[in-house]
Parts: sequence; C-alpha cells; structure tokens
Amino acid sequence: MTEPAAQPIFFVVDEDPTAAETLVGDLERRFQADFQVMGATSAQAALERLGALRESGEQVALIICYESMRAMPGSELLARSRSTHPDAKRILLIDYGDMFPAARRARLPGSYTSMLEVIAHGMALGHVEYYLTKPWRPREHLLYPVVGEALAAWTRLNSPGFALVRIVGDHWDPRSFGVRDALERNSVPYAFYDRGSPEGAELLQQLDDVPGNPVIFLAGGRVLTSYTRAEVAAAVGARVRPRLGAYDLVVVGAGPAGLSAAVYGASEGLSTLVLESTAIGGQAGTSSRIRNFLGFPAGISGGELAGRAYEQAWMFGVEFVLMNGATGLSAGGDGLQVTLSGGGQVTARAVVLATGVRYRQLEAPGIGGLVGAGVFYGSARRRHPRSRTRTCSSSAPGTPPGRRPSTWPGRRAASPCWCAGTAWPRACPTTSSPRSQAPPGSMCGCTPRSLRPAATIGSPSWSCATGPPAATRRCRRRRCS
Ligand SMILES: Cc1cc2nc3c(=O)[nH]c(=O)nc-3n(C[C@H](O)[C@H](O)[C@H](O)COP(=O)(O)OP(=O)(O)OC[C@H]3O[C@@H](n4cnc5c(N)ncnc54)[C@H](O)[C@@H]3O)c2cc1C
Repeated sequence: MTEPAAQPIFFVVDEDPTAAETLVGDLERRFQADFQVMGATSAQAALERLGALRESGEQVALIICYESMRAMPGSELLARSRSTHPDAKRILLIDYGDMFPAARRARLPGSYTSMLEVIAHGMALGHVEYYLTKPWRPREHLLYPVVGEALAAWTRLNSPGFALVRIVGDHWDPRSFGVRDALERNSVPYAFYDRGSPEGAELLQQLDDVPGNPVIFLAGGRVLTSYTRAEVAAAVGARVRPRLGAYDLVVVGAGPAGLSAAVYGASEGLSTLVLESTAIGGQAGTSSRIRNFLGFPAGISGGELAGRAYEQAWMFGVEFVLMNGATGLSAGGDGLQVTLSGGGQVTARAVVLATGVRYRQLEAPGIGGLVGAGVFYGSARRRHPRSRTRTCSSSAPGTPPGRRPSTWPGRRAASPCWCAGTAWPRACPTTSSPRSQAPPGSMCGCTPRSLRPAATIGSPSWSCATGPPAATRRCRRRRCS
C-alpha cells in the first residue's frame, strides 16, 4: 500500500490563544476532511514552524495572520512567509472595529496606520490577498466564503485537476508553448508531459510514428499529431463556425469590451454572435490580478474574470466562435457582412468591433525563434511554478518595472528587472505591483532604444532613476497616482 499524501495545511497565527483555537476549530469543522489545520500563538513560533514545514516538503495552502500582534504585525509575518511558502494564499485577520479609522486611531494613539493602508499596501505588494474580520460569526457569512475563495484560487494553481487534454512535447519548444498557451487562455483543463518523462514516454508508445511537434491526446482516445489551432479548438468541443447565417448582433473580439457588449446585447434579446481569433478574455486574460474592476474589492485574476463573463454571456444565449476571426466588414444586402478568416461570412444588423490592441514585439535580432522558448510576451499563471528557479528579465515598455515578475510566486530573489521604452513612475495601484517599494516620484528612466538592468526585484531599496516630468503626466492619465 502506498502512503497517503500529507494533506495541505491551513496555518493560523494569533497571539490570543483563545482566538487562535476558535479559528482552528471553525476551520476544522468545514475543511478537516481534506486539510490539516494548525495554529501558532506567537510570530516567532509561526515562522519557525513554517520553516520546518518547508524543510519537510509539506504544502501550506492558506496562512491566516492576525494583524494586531504585539511582536510582529500579521501583515509582516505574511510578507515573510512568502520566502518559505510562496504558493500559499495569504489572509489578514483584522478587528472589525479597525475598519473604522476613528476606532483604530483611539486604540493606537501615536502609532496609527489606517487599516486601509495596511491592506492596500499588502495587496499592492502581493502578500495580503484577502482579509477577514474578527469576530467572524456567522461563519457561513463572514468566514467560509473568504476562505473558500482563497482555497479555490490556491487549488486552481496547485492541485492537479482532471485533464481533458494531455500534451506530450518538449518543454522549451515554442510549438508546445503555443498549444499550452491557447488551451490555458481558453480555460481548457490540460496536462503537459515532457517527452522524456515516464508519463510522456508511455503515451508516445501508442504511436507508430512519433512526430517532432507536440502530440495531443484527447479524452476518448483520439490523438492529434498534426493540426491547426482551429482543429484543436474543435476537437475540445469549441464552436469554430457560426451556427446561423444571420444575427442581430455580431461582436468581433472577446476581450472585456466584447464580452460586455455580448452580455448586454443578448440580455436585451438580440441574437448575438462573438467572433474571437485567439482566446476569450483578450489581454485581460493574461493578467494575474486585476484590482480595478468593479465588484472585486480584493481583485480577480484576468482568467477568472474572463471565465465568469463568458459564462454570463453563454447563459444569455450568446454564441461564441473561436479561432475564426473577422477579416472584412462591408455593407450590403440584408445588413452588414462580416467575412471570416476560416472562410464564409455572416450577416448582422449591427456589428461591435472590440478588437483591442496588438502589441509591437521586440525587434532584437534572432528573437523570433526564441518566442515561447524562453522569451514570452505575457505568461499564463499556471506556468510560473516551472520558472521558479530561473532568472527572469522583464522588458516592458510602458509597464512599471518589475510588474510581471513581481507577481510570480517564489521568483528568484535576485531576478534582474530590465526595462525598455517609455517611463512609468512608481508601480501601479491597479495591479499587485510593488508600489511602495519605489520611492515617491521615482521612475524608470530608460530610453526607448536602451536595454539595461534597472532594478533588482525583491530588493527593499528598489529605486530607479528620476525621469522626465512628461512621463509622470502621461502616467496619471493611465490610472497611476
Ligand atoms: C498583463 C496585463 C495586465 C493588465 N492589467 C490590467 C489591470 O489590472 N487593470 C486594467 O484596467 N487593465 C489592465 N490591463 C489592460 C486591459 O486588459 C485592457 O485594457 C483590456 O483587456 C482591453 O479590453 P478590450 O476588450 O478592449 O481589448 P482586448 O483585451 O485586447 O481584447 C480584444 C480581443 O479581440 C480579439 N481580436 C482582435 N482582432 C480580432 C479579429 N479580427 N477577429 C476576432 N477577434 C479579434 C483579440 O484576440 C482579443 O481577444 C492589463 C493588460 C495586460 C496585458
């Protein structure tokens, strides 16, 4: 008999033993079947225990820390725990009264920091992802929904789910990257195996001829050895051709704008078709956390947001056609004619063009062959763990230096951040970027044609050269303060 795998851990820290014990008990009531719940009643003991759990290779799924501890604020403990358990979800426990500035000010005369500042700072730096209030009764209303949301986010990234598709290829082959990226961005559950891995070799044994490109094994036994993106989409059940010849509304592009247009069109009773050439969610689908979308105070990953919007549109009867974009638009006949890249056309009474942007790519010699094989324009979150031990550089015109790598759990402490192109002062509060690590008014002052190391991510004294005031003005228009 094989040893059962140790259950992932919930870790609770509060200097008040009664509160810690109560919280441990409340979590056990609901989650004991699948998780171990542990508590610590001092920051020092918590850090030592977390270190020991790391040494023994145990998985910590959630860390919940009370903020107002005497020895160390809970937010600081959460920040420190990132080095031992980068993948854990971090929840700050606060006193209900501390949400009101006057009450907190009265409790902490002299050393007052508003709870909003503590939470916003922690969220901007990525070490506070959710918060809970004390008391947390009724549990069903105030405790379990927050813990459940954090747990769902942790499980999506850390727990192998069912795989509709299994891919066998070379990890650093751009074609493997292309297939995985398309599946991941369209929320198709998949598993990827390197050719040399035991699982990969076993799957490839089924084939008489093993091709050089990645092989796709579908549930039901079908195997794709040579395929187009549209064929893969169709094979996993996506619609790649419109069902009808005419619609009230055709929306071109399934980014946030196209998805919103589709929801509103269909909810008004219009027959609605969405054409998407790449992936549901558009640019937003590649964002690890969007914090300025209405209704998500703690932020939401772009993939999750896109998935919810897609489901909402689908429930209103919107039809989605993937991997088959619009290539032409003309007026005539019964309305507007939209030509499709896969051939044919559809008629619409109204067309919404929500095609977003297409970014320029770097023009460095030889870079084309490296895209997907070490050079990435954005990266899906599930792949981050595979990059954990690697040095990464970010070249991001118009993006706060360090923005993307800073959101990678467990990134190398000494990963250099490269910046190029336009300047951006401080990090942006709409993302989980390290706003407060950059001194106010500092900015990255690289010129468009230069590539140079600008900062070391993870350094507490992160700073960039002071840039021109014009860049500050432009940034203010783009949501930064
Ligand atoms: C990594 C990252 C993080 C971000 N974080 C934030 C944030 O935190 N807050 C924030 O406010 N904004 C953020 N943004 C910006 C935000 O994602 C964009 O402003 C938003 O996605 C724009 O939405 P859109 O629908 O207009 O266009 P897009 O998201 O660009 O979507 C356009 C869609 O149209 C499709 N398309 C294009 N041409 C065709 C065609 N001919 N036929 C069919 N389909 C076509 C594309 O494939 C794409 O899916 C972020 C962007 C990125 C890349």
